[in-house]
Amino acid sequence: MLDTAALSKLLNQPQKIVITTHHKPDGDAMGSSLGLYNYLIQLGHHTQVIAPSDYPEFLAWMPGNEEVMIYTENAERSAQLIASADIIFCLDFNNLTRINEMGELVRQSGAVKVMIDHHLEPEDFDDYRYWDINACAAAQLVYSFIAEELQRPDLINADVATCLYTGIMTDSASFRLPKTTAAVHRIVAHLIEAGAVNWHIHELVYSNSSENRLRFLGHCLANKLEILHEYNTAIISVTRAEMQQYDTITGDTEGIVNYALGISGIKLAAFIVERTDLVKLSLRSKGEFPANEICKKYFKGGGHRNASGGQSDLSLEETIEKFKQILPEYKTLLIQ
Ligand code: 5GP
Ligand code: MN
Repeated sequence: MLDTAALSKLLNQPQKIVITTHHKPDGDAMGSSLGLYNYLIQLGHHTQVIAPSDYPEFLAWMPGNEEVMIYTENAERSAQLIASADIIFCLDFNNLTRINEMGELVRQSGAVKVMIDHHLEPEDFDDYRYWDINACAAAQLVYSFIAEELQRPDLINADVATCLYTGIMTDSASFRLPKTTAAVHRIVAHLIEAGAVNWHIHELVYSNSSENRLRFLGHCLANKLEILHEYNTAIISVTRAEMQQYDTITGDTEGIVNYALGISGIKLAAFIVERTDLVKLSLRSKGEFPANEICKKYFKGGGHRNASGGQSDLSLEETIEKFKQILPEYKTLLIQ
């Protein structure tokens, strides 16, 4: 493992740097990656952000977005960049399976690997770790990595601030989740002072739905919401045919699970969707309920206690059934 002084020294010279983040990047994944990108380019590093897959339109506006490479659209060039990088930053994930095929390329690269993350149980693949599960977002950690660890708060310009604000805003569900501490609000205040236009960022992310997305959401809530009162649990499930019927695109399903969790008394909500080759689950919970435990134990996934995800090779129907059969094991926690 490198210490901060050694990493700092490396960063004093221009390096070839790759920044990557998890599959299906969310606001924190892109916000933390582009926040770091906008910091590193000021120091003269040759920096490339590589996302393992595409990401929603409502995230595709942050400063530096035009420079992002998407692995699935540029596999060969991405592999070259990873192989020849001096430093690879891994943001908002801590297990190489989260970046699909890119995982082995990163593992095999001779680059110094830096993990900046806030998920449980990191895999041991890194050379430098800036990791704190109490952080509300990886973007919060990128902020303290730059401002405190590397002592360059002066380089948090408007571009860096805009990206980091977006990461913190989205991962804290607009400053609502329990990890949104006073310290987070102080960071956010500094980001606004540094040039993040908070009201505009909210508008770009949250008031930017297509008509289709809203109609699809309406369909999910009107026709697909199932409430299991006995377990204070709500499920929304959608088939591929429904996704096609509403012409959904990447990102259109994001956040739908939160509507189900928003019902009074509901402790656990699941959004279960049929994708091309597998079924994907998104779980959200309130309070102490460990949604990530269900994902880890039964659906090859994980995440945070209150927001986690996983997958299943069963059919959609069978996956829903499997999920329902798990609930009795958690009944005591669910009805508390
Ligand atoms: P979402 O439900 O938005 O897809 O994911 C919520 C959180 O769950 C993510 O931030 C991530 O931490 C975690 N997560 C989602 N899918 C997976 C998965 O397949 N494996 C693991 N380990 N974590 C996941
Ligand atoms: Mn995150």
